[in-house]
Amino acid sequence: MSAATAPLPPGSTIGIFGGGQLGRMTALAAARLGYRCHVFTPERDSPCAQVSDGETVADYEDRAALDAFAARVQVVTSEFENVSADALRYLATRVPVRPGPEVLAVAQDRVKEKTFCASIGATTTPVLVAHGAADIVRALDELGSPVVLKTARMGYDGKGQARIAAGDDAEAAWRAMGASQGVVEAWVAFDCEISVIVARGVDGAMLAYPAVENRHKHHILDETIAPARVGAATAAEAERLARHVAERLDLVGLLAVEMFVTKDGSVLVNELAPRPHNSGHWTIDACITSQFEQCVRAVSGLPLGSVERHADAVMKNLIGEEAGRWLEILGDPAAKLHLYGKAEARPGRKMGHVTWLKPRRG
Ligand code: AMP
Repeated sequence: MSAATAPLPPGSTIGIFGGGQLGRMTALAAARLGYRCHVFTPERDSPCAQVSDGETVADYEDRAALDAFAARVQVVTSEFENVSADALRYLATRVPVRPGPEVLAVAQDRVKEKTFCASIGATTTPVLVAHGAADIVRALDELGSPVVLKTARMGYDGKGQARIAAGDDAEAAWRAMGASQGVVEAWVAFDCEISVIVARGVDGAMLAYPAVENRHKHHILDETIAPARVGAATAAEAERLARHVAERLDLVGLLAVEMFVTKDGSVLVNELAPRPHNSGHWTIDACITSQFEQCVRAVSGLPLGSVERHADAVMKNLIGEEAGRWLEILGDPAAKLHLYGKAEARPGRKMGHVTWLKPRRG
């Protein structure tokens, strides 16, 4: 075993790029395994820093701060994909970065993501690359109406997205997106949205959590139902796709693959996220190994833990003011409440989540 793939001994420090709730829950899992975490984030008093051993508050492009960070940590993992791939490439010259910068580069750009999926035979929604309003008109013609325009970069939770029907003002939609490149997707009248989270270790070992069902409100995940209420063949196809993408990306860490299940039962890849994912929060309370512990294990070169679930689960996000119900939620003794330490409950902001366990079916 080379030094680069040797298991990280307890007491080592894991660097977390990004300071949000995903980093917070990763740091909590890391602490249980005897690791320290050091977070790099531009934001003061971040959810992750509140539970970490150390923090660097600096811009993601600040090379001196990146040098100092790299010197303090033994491995780096990212908790969101909209960090600069260049900053990660720079870090990777100093310390192992898992998943690697090139995985992030694919996942943070919808054009690269769709191109990559097409190149490995992972079917996505029918899509065209757009450089202007004329491409929206072309997409409406070729893909049918309506379509969804999405910014190529920095889009999440429905930000930078618009549904456009034939006859709508394509120029205005293009201007409103405010970016130089986007993708236009066919509108999928899906039966349901599902996701699979797969972990891949430094030795290439892979384990996948069962497919779960995701319900959105205003483009933001509202509820996850675990496992997804889909047939065995659909669940197996979703898992096959997730494993295939992880392998072909040469991933080390976690990958969430968001998918649409169409009315005729086919499974289409919508989005890739190479990190812990909101649709995996239920695993904290319902599985032998949570997605966060699994992430720590994978990036630290440890063996993966069992993904077996001891219960089925429903996870509800607490968005904005919904988190104000914390005391009422705690009044339900079966509710597992998780709050992220965010001071201000802005609309659309993920403040926490609640998980309810159900007796396991199947
Ligand atoms: P995304 O940021 O790509 O995950 O999109 C956010 C949400 O918008 C998805 O979870 C879907 O609910 C919806 N959506 C995105 N793309 C499409 C599409 N091509 N057809 C139908 N709904 C979509």
